Amino acid sequence: KKVADRYLKREVLGEGTYGVVYKAIDTKTGQTVAIKKIRLGKQKEGVNFTALREIKLLKELKDPNIIELIDAFPHKGNLHLVFEFMETDLEAVIRDRNIVLSLSDIKSYLQMTLKGLAFCHKKWVLHRDMKPNNLLIGSRGQLKLADFGLARIFGSPDRRFTHQVFARWYRAPELLFGAKAYGPAVDVWAAACIFAELLLRRPFLQGNSDIDQLGKIFAAFGTPKPSQWPDIKYLPDYVEYQYVPGQPLRQLFPMASDDALDLLSKMFTYDPKARISALQALEHRYFSSGPPPTEPALLPRPP
Ligand code: ADP
Repeated sequence: KKVADRYLKREVLGEGTYGVVYKAIDTKTGQTVAIKKIRLGKQKEGVNFTALREIKLLKELKDPNIIELIDAFPHKGNLHLVFEFMETDLEAVIRDRNIVLSLSDIKSYLQMTLKGLAFCHKKWVLHRDMKPNNLLIGSRGQLKLADFGLARIFGSPDRRFTHQVFARWYRAPELLFGAKAYGPAVDVWAAACIFAELLLRRPFLQGNSDIDQLGKIFAAFGTPKPSQWPDIKYLPDYVEYQYVPGQPLRQLFPMASDDALDLLSKMFTYDPKARISALQALEHRYFSSGPPPTEPALLPRPP
């Protein structure tokens, strides 16, 4: 069945946060695409126009490390977003026990992630929902960030009704403390969690609730001292907590190089104002010292 006289729908690829995702053929270009059908059911007519205007801005967001939004149109009360089709995602790579990730492979995946982030942050677009299954991998090994800006347009999805509870593990401490005004630093924290996950081959900070998530962060890095994060006391959900000492990063990541640990600690900085930016992270020694990042086409991928 053709949608908008242009896309031939194929099988369902999966059910996502905002709706069903289909594989389809773009009859105009012959290209395989992924169509995300977003339910707009409960929203008022006017919201759709706002969404469409914002979506238009996302169409302008073109970078080798960002999933291209090819087309967007309303159809039968649903908003359809057409993206380039991607073979797999970073979660599948991390989970596949047959895949060995070398330090060069990890560096390559992190570099592509940070490049995509730096590009969007330069345009003042935040991701807000970074996690390994949002980092898609193309047929030539290129990693591209998916779902950029969607969290802002459609609101943070109500996760009580979805299987997507894992995004909590990538949440920055300022979000867990209820910050209403936050910036690109939330994406850098998430990228740090993904960096850690690439090194450990399992999610690093696995909280069972938002409070427990903060507990996991404190257990790893120690409770933040006022000097480390002066503005913490102004955050809406801030409460005084008992002192917990941190663990040396070296102990948590025995396999990482000194440069890797230095970058990781700068990305895991408590104070979002002091946290390294995606652009600064790309200029860190870790990327210029050996071993060099693996060429994307040579990266190991699931079959
Ligand atoms: P979530 O909201 O849980 O992150 P998504 O809505 O992004 O999930 O995606 C749902 C499913 O569709 C996932 O299984 C994902 O692998 C697949 N998918 C999403 N985007 C693409 C794409 N561009 N190419 C191929 N598969 C995709």
